[in-house]
Amino acid sequence: MTAETAPSWPPQPDVPQIVAPGIRHLLAPNASSWTYEGTNSYVIADGDSAILVDPGCTDESHAEALRRVGRADDRTITAVLLTHDHPDHSDGARALARSVGVPIIGMSRRFADELLVDGQILRVGALEAHVIHTPGHSDDSVCLWFPAQNTLMTGDSLLGARSSAVMGKLAEVLDSLDLLRNLVGDRKVLALPGHGPMFDDIVESATKVIEVRTKRINEVRGYIEGGNTTLEGLTAVLYPNHSGSRAMFATSTVVSTVRYLAEQTDERGIADARLRDDVVAELERYDQAMAERMRAHQAAEAAASA
Ligand SMILES: [Zn+2]
Repeated sequence: MTAETAPSWPPQPDVPQIVAPGIRHLLAPNASSWTYEGTNSYVIADGDSAILVDPGCTDESHAEALRRVGRADDRTITAVLLTHDHPDHSDGARALARSVGVPIIGMSRRFADELLVDGQILRVGALEAHVIHTPGHSDDSVCLWFPAQNTLMTGDSLLGARSSAVMGKLAEVLDSLDLLRNLVGDRKVLALPGHGPMFDDIVESATKVIEVRTKRINEVRGYIEGGNTTLEGLTAVLYPNHSGSRAMFATSTVVSTVRYLAEQTDERGIADARLRDDVVAELERYDQAMAERMRAHQAAEAAASA
């Protein structure tokens, strides 16, 4: 894909655009500081079948647009696929799957009716998509690799020039990005991300993210070795200008970086045992507070639905 042929960005929400053979893109109408211009939904369609990917919102107009594109040319929609179960991808998935009478497929135990397996090949008409587990952004993140189309659907595992929060394990982020680099190698591959415009410099983008994360790991190690061992203190020095919904992004990235450092037992970790104990205790407090918050949230939901 060259700059001359790339569709203009951002497109109108709900307007389908063919982005690769058998793959159409529809922007979800859910723009926010968290989703950039909105979530990229896709329809994979070939022959007489279609799969809908990442509805991303509960907007009925978006669900209808996805169904219409999926069912065009007398095709049958066979599944709703989630690249991962964050709300900006999974919202609307249950209602959409139910309205069509198909299962949700993905790697999320919370959402998927049928669990995908790493290495599995999905067939849509004559199209083949290989499922690649890329944990890190979330534990259940998957990419879809279309070898005949030289196309990679990346979910939020790689967003080109944009950054994506680390809600899973940072060590897995680094491993997954390395895996994508090796998969692509020196081939020219089109990337279809979960947010933002498509891109074709996968290896460069992944390398840049690895470099930025590694630099941040070294920064955080430096602060901790200087005696700043609280998550609040580290977030304040690393992300002084993040507020509102971006604060969640900052906190999750700091927590995953500190956890990465606490888990390393060699020179990549924290050399001073006392400082390491301090951050481990801090992570335990954070995990307990999060578990407490989750219990309170569930109790409130149960009370509201009783
Ligand atoms: Zn997302």
